[in-house]
Amino acid sequence: MKAIVNQDNCIGCGLCAGDCPEVFELNGDKAQGKEIPAGKEDAAKNTAANCPVQAIEIVEVVK
Ligand code: SF4
Repeated sequence: MKAIVNQDNCIGCGLCAGDCPEVFELNGDKAQGKEIPAGKEDAAKNTAANCPVQAIEIVEVVK
């Protein structure tokens, strides 16, 4: 699974990077999502649900 941050919607509040730094990092004034490490799926989904502008999408990556 991978987290994708919609760059148009993200307001750079930093909540996701603070909540779940294994998956999200701030890059300038926008957050970036990464590949979700094993065991961090629920944390990433919770963080996505808490984003104030719903900018985070969790997607399955087909390998
Ligand atoms: S919580 Fe949402 S708005 Fe805030 S930095 Fe993360 S993706 Fe952007």
